Amino acid sequence: MTKMRILNGQTIVPGLAIGKICTLFNEDEKSVPHYSIQESQVEYEIKRFNEGLIKAQNQLQEYIEESYKTLDNNASKIFYSHFMILKDKKISSSIINSIETKLINAEHAIYDIFENFINVYKDKHLHFQELVHDFQDVRETLLNEFLVSDDDTACPIPGKSPVIIVTKRLSPYMVNDLYNKNVLAFVSEEGGFTTHASVLARSMGIPLMFNVPVTSYCKCNDLAIVDAENGKFILNPDQKTIIEYEKKNKAFKQNEQKYKDISVLSAKTKDNLNIDLKVNINLPNEIYLLENHNFDGVGLLRTEFLFLDKTLPPNEEEQFQIYKKIIKLCEDKPITVRLLDIGSDKTPVYLDLPDQINPDLGIKGARAVGYFKEIFLTQIKALLRSAIYGNVRILFPMITDVSDIKIFTDLIKEAKVELNSRDIKIKSQIQIGAMVETPSAAIMIDQIIDYVDFINIGSNDLFQYTLAISREHPDIYKNYHTLHPAIVRLIKMVIDKVNEKNKEVCLCGEIANIESAYPLFLNMNLNCFSVSVSKHSVVKLKLSEIEISKTKDLFDGFFNLKFDDDIDDYLKSMNS
Ligand code: PEP
Ligand code: MG
Repeated sequence: MTKMRILNGQTIVPGLAIGKICTLFNEDEKSVPHYSIQESQVEYEIKRFNEGLIKAQNQLQEYIEESYKTLDNNASKIFYSHFMILKDKKISSSIINSIETKLINAEHAIYDIFENFINVYKDKHLHFQELVHDFQDVRETLLNEFLVSDDDTACPIPGKSPVIIVTKRLSPYMVNDLYNKNVLAFVSEEGGFTTHASVLARSMGIPLMFNVPVTSYCKCNDLAIVDAENGKFILNPDQKTIIEYEKKNKAFKQNEQKYKDISVLSAKTKDNLNIDLKVNINLPNEIYLLENHNFDGVGLLRTEFLFLDKTLPPNEEEQFQIYKKIIKLCEDKPITVRLLDIGSDKTPVYLDLPDQINPDLGIKGARAVGYFKEIFLTQIKALLRSAIYGNVRILFPMITDVSDIKIFTDLIKEAKVELNSRDIKIKSQIQIGAMVETPSAAIMIDQIIDYVDFINIGSNDLFQYTLAISREHPDIYKNYHTLHPAIVRLIKMVIDKVNEKNKEVCLCGEIANIESAYPLFLNMNLNCFSVSVSKHSVVKLKLSEIEISKTKDLFDGFFNLKFDDDIDDYLKSMNS
């Protein structure tokens, strides 16, 4: 009898799945044939390479066309950029040169040349990691045209039966290939929240976990449970665990109907207090998922994704069209668009940033304006133009004090002057807001609030900077409670100051997705939240169960908690 094993990981797309595993491990050096050739074979080897290259290019072209039909622009953009890598003459001539001079087989040459590119970027700044992934993905596609796949008959075949896909590194191609093929969940050893693969899996709504050490333990046909609600991967579960999770899965499915029912209603507590429940939009197309939802606008439109998957920044017209589309779909609901939040994990490759020892503490927020003023001006112009179609509000990222706000408001003035000189019609008034996501902004809130119309609390960065833990450090991050009292106290401080001025304060970081914390949040006089699209109905349902009178004094009780266990117990007692 195989032993049950529980592996922890990072939830990227929440959900539950029980099923058989299909392992799709990527190429590694050992599986790529390496052999020497004779000079007389060079011509043949180059011919093989050229044929493989053309097949891979055709394959990518099919992906691009298919993604137009099935997915969204993001997929086609990713595949297009990969297609362009395969078209790059420098790469193909380096491979041919390597075959000729080193007298090696085509696969070996392909592997080595791509490896050189990967090594150039691997140890660089975090933002080059996407490029490293791109080179790995393109190499895999190209090698697939040469490699004979291992015998995998023991595997449940995706598309024929439901499967949990387990892999070392989830590539966007795998995700795309597996679209509509009955994939229950993805589990991968490596990855991050912003990889292209996660972007696509999120668009498809398939549960996804990263950082699970799967390759050492899993094989095809093993039974597994993916608990991407709690970051757990259970391999070879025993009978008791299977029964427990089958029940959970059933409850999960039943809740889905409840979520559907509540999605069309407005957000309010059991005793009828109206709550402003907005959504965070990361990919423009996510807005379509809200078709039948009653939501109170977009509380945070992260615009980074418009900039990340590109080789050049999107121009004014491209951005204008995207903003206009979202704004029109939201009719008169407020759309809070955050200006490009450059930094650490979210830096487009084309931005020529100097090397920084600690990018999280470097060129970010308003500081980035000094380096990339034109990019910000272009974005603001596109936004001002689109604002005539609805209720657009501009949100400033990474504010530390009022001088940062001045930098952004000066830019808005400059953009208006330029648009006026082009005789372009714009709205005279547009609301502006500040992200409070640095301890400095929380401390200076009494001054900041006088310069803006609304405040968004970004608990993700507030957590990182207050507790001095990088968001990119899952090993350390997981040791701290998400509702750390330091964060909750700071949030309360901000809410009180903003409420005193009768302005809007909205919680838009990830903790707004923790429905069990809502009794506490409401008791803290917070009544505006912006949550992930997938959590919108979940939170709405939770709100409908809360009676405000019963939340009395919860913050006072929370204020003095010291240990994680106390916080967990308190959360439980608030919800019992
Ligand atoms: C935050 O920091 O909480 C936030 C909403 O911004 P992001 O996660 O995009 O940094
Ligand atoms: Mg942030």
